[in-house]
Amino acid sequence: MDLKQFVAIVPDYPKEGIVFKDITPLMNNGEAYKYATDQIVDFAKDKQIDLIVGPEARGFIIGCPIAYALGVGFAPVRKEGKLPRETIKVSYGLEYGKDVLTIHKDAIKPGQRVLITDDLLATGGTINATIQLVEKLGGVVAGIAFLVELTYLNGRKKLDGYDILTLMEY
Ligand code: AMP
Repeated sequence: MDLKQFVAIVPDYPKEGIVFKDITPLMNNGEAYKYATDQIVDFAKDKQIDLIVGPEARGFIIGCPIAYALGVGFAPVRKEGKLPRETIKVSYGLEYGKDVLTIHKDAIKPGQRVLITDDLLATGGTINATIQLVEKLGGVVAGIAFLVELTYLNGRKKLDGYDILTLMEY
């Protein structure tokens, strides 16, 4: 299936010069959403994954159906102030801004094998921060899966040595 037909390209959003890749049409189409999910499940199934971790909000949309399919849990990574209990945090840079990401301190048990999911790899800042959170808690990043990779931003450079799947490249 050609998944790119389900990605809407939005120039100058959220600000001038950014070409936003909107994956909501993909989620809106049951067949496309299932196909994309199945591709990631295939990538993950031999990796002995114990837990899925995804940054808000689109990392949840990608990660939760994978967690269901593999029969494992999901741990949310969220912006500062959004998780109600004790967290650890990491600050990071974005394609369009700066932010802090957090995870509950008890979300990952040391040694657990984690698959990280998000909609899109741009500069890699978000996923790099997510990797740091997982590893600080003793988790092992066994794979990272995205729907979309913006290859011209070289985000993979920040993710050297990790096993990465991307379903579409721009
Ligand atoms: P980065 O940290 O630069 O890799 O940015 C990745 C995060 O920002 C992802 O969670 C995306 O949801 C969002 N993002 C960054 N750039 C874009 C873009 N051009 N189109 C859509 N989403 C983007």
